[in-house]
Amino acid sequence: MEFEPVIGLEIHAQLKTKTKIFCACSTAFGAPPNTHTCPVCLGMPGVLPVLNKKVVEYTLRMALATGCDIEGVSRFARKNYFYPDLPKGYQISQYELPIARNGHVAVEVNGATHRIGITRIHMEEDAGKLSHDPGRPVSRVDFNRTGVPLIEIVSEPDIRSPEAAGAYLRQLRAIVRYLGICDGNLEEGSFRCDANVSIRPAGAETFGTRTEIKNLNSFKHVEKALQYEISRQKEILAEGGTVNQETRLWDPAKNRTRSMRSKEEAHDYRYFPDPDLLPLVIDAAWIETVRKDLPELPADKKKRFVAEYGLPSYDAEILAADRKLAKYFEDGLQEFARPKLLSNWIMGSLLGLLNAHGKSIDQTPISASNLAQLLKLVDDGTISGKIAKTVFEEMAASGKSARRIVEEKGLVQISDSSTIEDIVTTVVAANPAEVRAYQNGKTKLLGFFVGQVMKETRGKANPKLVNEILKRYLEK
Ligand code: ADP
Ligand code: MG
Ligand code: ZN
Repeated sequence: MEFEPVIGLEIHAQLKTKTKIFCACSTAFGAPPNTHTCPVCLGMPGVLPVLNKKVVEYTLRMALATGCDIEGVSRFARKNYFYPDLPKGYQISQYELPIARNGHVAVEVNGATHRIGITRIHMEEDAGKLSHDPGRPVSRVDFNRTGVPLIEIVSEPDIRSPEAAGAYLRQLRAIVRYLGICDGNLEEGSFRCDANVSIRPAGAETFGTRTEIKNLNSFKHVEKALQYEISRQKEILAEGGTVNQETRLWDPAKNRTRSMRSKEEAHDYRYFPDPDLLPLVIDAAWIETVRKDLPELPADKKKRFVAEYGLPSYDAEILAADRKLAKYFEDGLQEFARPKLLSNWIMGSLLGLLNAHGKSIDQTPISASNLAQLLKLVDDGTISGKIAKTVFEEMAASGKSARRIVEEKGLVQISDSSTIEDIVTTVVAANPAEVRAYQNGKTKLLGFFVGQVMKETRGKANPKLVNEILKRYLEK
């Protein structure tokens, strides 16, 4: 029987506010343990939480960017459970009245567009961080993260493949980064994902029993864990068994998921409205202010790059996924208006260089303007494309402009026919056997001759001219 996967993702994004959600403690990462704490985030008796307005503004940005309806009145609720990283014994979250609902994003998978619904977005506080000493019965807790703001974004079960789940996750990460509300780092845990998955016979109306997978801290793991889980469930159903509703942990070392807790062991969180916090009332004027300030979003930018510059969808996707990279590209276009050529250099040489040095686009040693100048030198025939690669490397190392490097190193392309003709004459005279072979039909040898001329000119001869002149001489 054919089975169809059904997937829904729950994403937690850590908001980049300066202070925590209900107190004035810093959210800065990497401070000595328990130095960013106060009676509020430590859950001392008698303290009162005060909502950080920036958290609401950031959440509104995300909600509007994903087409959600904003609730004029929403509420905070207590989610009760006991764990050593949660000093109050409850997490302040939102439950029956979240701030935003009914959004959606469009994701592209293998050229087809899928609309993925967003059920809800709500605000909540993060818990502390536990660490366990290996080999010793010691656990430590750091409350610096307690009370750091999070948003949870819950998708509808609209996703139909691991690849689509990956595309959706990438899209949301690009959006939070564009909005400047979260740094979107799965590996470091500022952007976390739990994946719910079930399967059903192709064409069926109702959903199958789902499992929820945790511990997915890279895009690769999300897709691999879903693939594993889908085939595990298929095997169970094929053998006439039933899938247990449970939470499973992804084990990246073993490439498999394993059971963590079953539905029977699931927590009863005894949610109730937090009596310490007033209902959150958001007026329409504020919503409109936030909406007006939204930047062009990655999906729109991608579409525009395809429509306006004729870029392939692949290029547009990569360039638009990062706001600064997209800006670099458009800055470069101001001076060098050939989009596909510029895109090739950015995606190939520039991103290659940055990746090799573990740098991001804002640390590029070659400015957009300098790259554009280099490409202009190729375009107007001053240097060859091959020499341009050398100049590019020199630019990266020295920070000098392309023109200066070309002048200092004497790399100007030889486009003077008589000079090239002289060299061709020498090369032809020095290789009589190859000339005869060429004239007897072994025309593949043209490459050999081109190579010889390039060697003589240290790569500076204009390749088009070399080809033309060589053919003329060889076919004499
Ligand atoms: P919970 O409160 O237990 O986390 P929710 O109803 O909030 O449950 O659902 C959590 C996630 O699971 C959502 O992203 C939703 O789309 C997804 N989901 C719900 N039912 C299924 C199903 N049968 N198969 C796959 N995913 C599902
Ligand atoms: Mg859940
Ligand atoms: Zn605090």
